[in-house]
Amino acid sequence: MDLNKSFIEFFNKNKNVKLYGEVIDKYFNNSPKCRYCNNFIYYYDSTFKISHGELITKGKSFNNKKTLDKDYYLSICESCLIIKFPEYNKKNKARVFNQMNYITEYAFDIPSNVSKEWVKNKYVISECNLIKKWGFEIGAIKWLEYKKKQSMSNTFEYKNEKYGWDREKFDEFNKSRSVTIENLIKKHGEEEGLLIWDKYCEKQRYSTSLNYFIDKHGLDNGTLIYDNFCKKRLSGIGYSMVSKNLFDILSERFKEYSLFYAENEWFSYDCVNKKYYLIDFYIKELNIGIEFNGDIWHANPIKYSANDKPISFQNDYTAEYIWEKDKIKNEYLKTKLNKLIIIWESDFYKDGIDNTIDKILKIING
Ligand SMILES: [Zn+2]
Repeated sequence: MDLNKSFIEFFNKNKNVKLYGEVIDKYFNNSPKCRYCNNFIYYYDSTFKISHGELITKGKSFNNKKTLDKDYYLSICESCLIIKFPEYNKKNKARVFNQMNYITEYAFDIPSNVSKEWVKNKYVISECNLIKKWGFEIGAIKWLEYKKKQSMSNTFEYKNEKYGWDREKFDEFNKSRSVTIENLIKKHGEEEGLLIWDKYCEKQRYSTSLNYFIDKHGLDNGTLIYDNFCKKRLSGIGYSMVSKNLFDILSERFKEYSLFYAENEWFSYDCVNKKYYLIDFYIKELNIGIEFNGDIWHANPIKYSANDKPISFQNDYTAEYIWEKDKIKNEYLKTKLNKLIIIWESDFYKDGIDNTIDKILKIING
């Protein structure tokens, strides 16, 4: 058997456990076996693909499910699953494993208290969950809508004053209001309701997800472009309205120059680190760049300490990590630009727009 496309085509046309087992035996060491029948874990959607000249598996056979405490690995083959749960055949198989239910619990050998916790966490409304579920753009908007709705009659102060609720009772009440999902479950029953919800979310999600950017641009640049995309979205709603305003006014002062900002951002490619760096505002003839640093996005050191995680949906971005990332970027940009001017969001609020413009002009002319 050769590792080539025609083999993969052949496999896909003649899919069966035996053929699958042969390939797995030959090319994959220590592949997981079914904990029930001890055969290789073959699912009908299992296939192979060549990536960077190497044969890799696609489909369920190597899947893992992340829960709060650890990763659980698929440990039951499809035929054993069907023997145990004949109804699995009638389900949308791609969906069964996307969510948590008695079948996934069994297939991944997940204790039921762990799976309950998983479901609870997945469906609690939080900014982080909404963004995970909907992608940055829609998630952020949903979160704002949600907060807006809540803010009217649902402030803690209001409930506390009117009903004497404490913080715990108030939080619990908020969690129980997971509107859309709850309604779907009411209407369609738990299993079907969650299925519809998942399906709906899945559709919305991919094109704004990190995976999409990585698929499109490769790991490094995809991650970078995604960060920038998030920053813009965050901006669109928050501080960038402010920065846009600042740059609009500034552009009036530099009418005779070629300016790059907002939709027409200037970027520089760092050949050493192989990364694109975008600049918020760039004056071409002067070769001067201005960065407007949002306090959250750039982890303003006067607000955050090294181990803080200011970006709520980037669980692994500590302030220290963000500073390091920005440091590399700024050091690179300083070698390319005549001047790099950084305006912090908090300074901007403190100084006001006129003083900020003066400050920028002074640096440019100085
Ligand atoms: Zn089995």
